[in-house]
Amino acid sequence: MNKFHIRIGLILLGVVIGIWNFYILGIEWVAYHETKRSYSQTRALIQFSQSVGDFVHESQKERGLSAAYLGSNGDMQFKSSLMKQRLISDKKFLALLQRIRTLSRYSLPEKFHQSIKTSIDKQRQLGDIREQVINLEITASEEIDFYTELNANFLGLLPLSAKSAPTREIALRLYDNTLLVECTEKAAIERGTLANVFAAKRFDPGMYEKAISVHAIHQSCKQSFFDKASNNERTLYNAFFSHKLFQDSHRIYEQALSGNFSMGATKWFNHMTVNIDHLKTLHEKFDQLLEEDLSQLEKKTLLKHEIFLVGSFTYGFFMLLGAIYLVQQMFAMINTLRISSVVFDSNEGVLVADINGKIIRVNPAFEAISGYSESEVLGLTPALLKSGLNNNQFYKDMWNSLINKGFWNGEIYNRRKNGEIYPEYLSISAVRDEYRKITHYVGIFSDITAKKENEERIYRLAFYDPLTQLPNRRLLLERLEHALLKNERNQTYSMVAFIDLDNFKIVNDTKGHLVGDDLLKEAGNRLLEATRGEDTVARLGGDEFVILIEDLGSSRDHAFKIASDIGSKISLSLQKPFEIHEELFFITGSIGIAILHDYKQTVNEILAQADTAMYSAKESGKNTFRFFDSALQQKMLKKLECEKVLFNALEENQFQLFYQLQYNHQNEVSGAEALIRWFHPERGIISPTEFIPIAEENGFITEIGKWIIAEACRTLQEWSHDSHQKNWTLSINISPKQFLDESFTTVLLENVTTYSVSPSRLRLEVTESLLINDIEKIQNIMHRLKSHGFTFSLDDFGTGYSSLSYLNSFPFDELKIDQSFIRNMNNDSHASALVRAIITMAEVLGLEIVAEGVELSEQHTILQSIGGIHYQGYLFSKPLSKDDMHAMLLNNHSDL
Ligand code: C2E
Ligand code: CA
Ligand code: CA
Repeated sequence: MNKFHIRIGLILLGVVIGIWNFYILGIEWVAYHETKRSYSQTRALIQFSQSVGDFVHESQKERGLSAAYLGSNGDMQFKSSLMKQRLISDKKFLALLQRIRTLSRYSLPEKFHQSIKTSIDKQRQLGDIREQVINLEITASEEIDFYTELNANFLGLLPLSAKSAPTREIALRLYDNTLLVECTEKAAIERGTLANVFAAKRFDPGMYEKAISVHAIHQSCKQSFFDKASNNERTLYNAFFSHKLFQDSHRIYEQALSGNFSMGATKWFNHMTVNIDHLKTLHEKFDQLLEEDLSQLEKKTLLKHEIFLVGSFTYGFFMLLGAIYLVQQMFAMINTLRISSVVFDSNEGVLVADINGKIIRVNPAFEAISGYSESEVLGLTPALLKSGLNNNQFYKDMWNSLINKGFWNGEIYNRRKNGEIYPEYLSISAVRDEYRKITHYVGIFSDITAKKENEERIYRLAFYDPLTQLPNRRLLLERLEHALLKNERNQTYSMVAFIDLDNFKIVNDTKGHLVGDDLLKEAGNRLLEATRGEDTVARLGGDEFVILIEDLGSSRDHAFKIASDIGSKISLSLQKPFEIHEELFFITGSIGIAILHDYKQTVNEILAQADTAMYSAKESGKNTFRFFDSALQQKMLKKLECEKVLFNALEENQFQLFYQLQYNHQNEVSGAEALIRWFHPERGIISPTEFIPIAEENGFITEIGKWIIAEACRTLQEWSHDSHQKNWTLSINISPKQFLDESFTTVLLENVTTYSVSPSRLRLEVTESLLINDIEKIQNIMHRLKSHGFTFSLDDFGTGYSSLSYLNSFPFDELKIDQSFIRNMNNDSHASALVRAIITMAEVLGLEIVAEGVELSEQHTILQSIGGIHYQGYLFSKPLSKDDMHAMLLNNHSDL
C-alpha cells in the first residue's frame, strides 16, 4: 500500500467521522433545545401551580367568607369582607389566566388542556353562585361544595402538570407540592365549614358530619403528604406543625364538637387563615426550592450538552479541516501523478529503480526500445541492458555523479533483448525523500540510433565518396596534414600515389555509367586489397584515386624502395582484367608517386606533385608508375606556359600547315594530309602532339580548326589550277571538340563556297575517341556533310576499342591503320596478321585504306602484297611546308 492509498483512506475516514459527528451534533442540538424547552416548560408549570395555588387560596377565603356570611344570615360585617375577597379572587384568577395563556406555548397533553377548559367553565358559573350567596338563596353546604368543586377542578390540574417534568425527581417533588396544596384546600374547607358553624352558633343539619369528615380528610391529607414528602420537606413541614396555632385549631375544633361556639366565626376564620397562610407559605417555599433546584439541574444538564456541543463541533470542524487539507494534498498528488503519467507515456523510455537499483517500473516506450516487457525486468537491475561497450570506469563515474550530484546524463550503449546494441541518450536522477535520503532512481532515455546514423551519414557524406565508400578529397587532405605533422615529429617518410585509370573514360562512355560505376568500385577494392588497413585509399573524383601510406621509415633510400614496391603492386593489381556484368575489361592505371618528407610542403603541393608524376606515367605509355621529379614538374610548367601563349599564336600568325603526301598502290600521289605546325618566336617549332591536346582541353581548338579549314580550302583552290594536283584529296584532322561545335558544318560550307572547292576533295579525319559521344548526333552530322560531298576518314584505327562492325554504322570512306601496327610489322608477326585482317575487312566494307607511318621499304613490300591500299610515311615523304612540297614534287618530276 503506498502513500496515496493511505491518504485516500484517511480522507474517507475523516469525511465519515466528520459527517457522523455533525449528525450527532444535530441530534445533540435538538436534544439541547428540547431540554431547554422542557426546563422552561417545567418552570412555567411551577409558576402555573403557584398561580393555581394563589387563586385557590383566594377562592378558599371567598368560600369561607361566603359560608360565614350565609351562617350569619347576611351579616353586613361578613358581607363587606366577602365583597373585598371576591375582588382579590378575581384578580388572582386573571393572573392564572395569564399563566394558562403562557402554557399554551408548550406542547402539553390534550387531557391537560381539556381539564383546563373544564375548570374555566366551572369558574364561569361563579357569578350565579355569588349572587345566590348574597341573596341567601343557597345553603352553606351547597355553597361550600361548589367552591370545593371549583378548587378541586383547578387543583386537579396540578398532578397532571407534574407529569411533564424533565426528571422523575422533579416530577415527584411537583407532586408533593400538589399534595401540600391539596392539604391547604382541606384545611380551608375545614375553615369554611366551622366558620359557618361558629357563625350559626350551632350545627345545622348535616354540618356535624361534614365537620368531622372534613377534619378527617384534612388530617389524612397531611399524613399522606408526610408519608410521601422528602426528608427536607418533612423537616420544613414539622417546623410549621410544631407551631402553636396548629395545636390551637385542633383544640377549637374539639370545643365546637362539644358544643362550645364561643370562639366566634371571625376569630376561627382568622385563626385558620393564619394556619392556611402558613401552609401556603410552605408551599411557596417548596416551589421556590424546587425552582432553585430546577435551575441548578438545568444549568448542569445544559452545561453537559453545551460541553458536548462545543466539543463535538470543534472535533467535527477540525476533522473536516483535516479532510479538506488531505483532499487538497490529494489533488496536488493527483496533479503530480497526472503530470508523471504524461511523462510516463512519452516516447522516451522511463525506468524507475529502487535504492538497491532493482527495477520497479518501466513505461511502454522502455518496452518498445529495449524489447523487454515490464514483467520480464521487474526486480532485476538495469545491468541486464549492458552492452559491454562501456567500460567499468564509465559506470563508476556514472554512480559517482548520481550519488554526489543526484543526476547523470550522457550517451551509453545498451543491448536490446534481441542482442542488438544501440546507442541511447540517458538521464538518470536520484529521487530523495523529505529527509534528503535517496529512495529511487529514475532513468529517462531515448534511442539515438537514428540520430547517430544521421550523424554517421552526414559524416560519410562529408568525408566519404558515396560511390566507392572511400575517403574523399576532404578527408584525404586532413589525413595528409596529419601525416605531415607526424613526419616532422618522427622524422619519417610517407608517400602519396596518384592513380588515374587508363582508358576508363572510353569504357564509361561506351558501356554506360552503370558499368563505369561498378568498374570504379572494383578498382577501389583492388586498391584497398593492394594496401594495408591503416593506409588511406581515397577517390578524388572521376577515375582518380590517391593512396596515402605513412611510416616508410626514416631512411630516404629505404622509403623510395618501399614506395617503388607499392607502385608495382598497385599497377599489378589494376592489370588483371575486370569482370563487370559478365564482360571483361582491361583497365590499367597510371600512377604518380610523391614522397613526403619536406615539412614545409603544403598538402596541395604534394598532391600536385603526385599528379604531375601521374601525367609522366601516362606519357610514358600508361600502365606504369613514375616518381615525381622536378624536371617533370618543369615540363608541366612548360605546358602551362604553352597554354598561356597559345591564345596569341593565331593572331600572331604563328601557325602553318605542313603537308604529308599520300601515295596509291601505283606509287602515284593521291593526296596529302595537312598537319599543323606552330612556329613560336622563342621556342621554335612546337609539335602538335604538345599543343593540340592543350587546345582540346581549353576549347581553343575550335578557333584553330576554323583557321585550318580555311587554310586547307585555300590550298585546294591553288591545287585546282594544276592538272596533277586538281584530283588530289586533302585530309584535315578534326578534333572531337571541333567536330561537335555548332559552327563546324557552317564553317566547312562557307569555306568550300568561298574558295570554290569541291567538298569531295576535302577529307575529314576523325579518331575513334569522337565516336564514343552521342552516336546519333555524330551520324547526323556526318550524313549531312556527306550529302554535301565531304568524305570521312577514320584516323589511328586499331588504338581504340571500336570494332569494324561498329564503325560500319558511320559513313566512313577511308580507314587509316595506325602507325603502331605498321611499325611492328614483319613477315610473320602478329601485327602483320592483324593488318591483313583489317585490310580484308575494310575491303569487304568498301573502305579505302591508308597505311600510316610507313618508314621502311619492307613494310611497303608487305603491305603491297596484301592489297591495293594507300601509303603515308617518311618512306615517301615527311610532312613539308607548301614550298618544300613543291620543290620536292618538281624534283620528283624531274626524276621521273
Ligand atoms: P596523325 O593525324 O596521326 O598524324 C600523323 C602523324 O604521324 C604526324 O605527326 C606525322 O608527322 C607523323 N608521321 C607521318 N609519317 C610518319 C612516319 O613514317 N614515321 C613516323 N614516326 N611518324 C610519321 P605530327 O605532324 O607530329 O602530328 C601528330 C598528331 O597531331 C597527328 O597525328 C594529329 O593527331 C595531330 N595533328 C597534327 N596536325 C593537326 C591538325 O591540323 N589538326 C588536328 N586536329 N590535329 C593535328
Ligand atoms: Ca591524321
Ligand atoms: Ca594518324
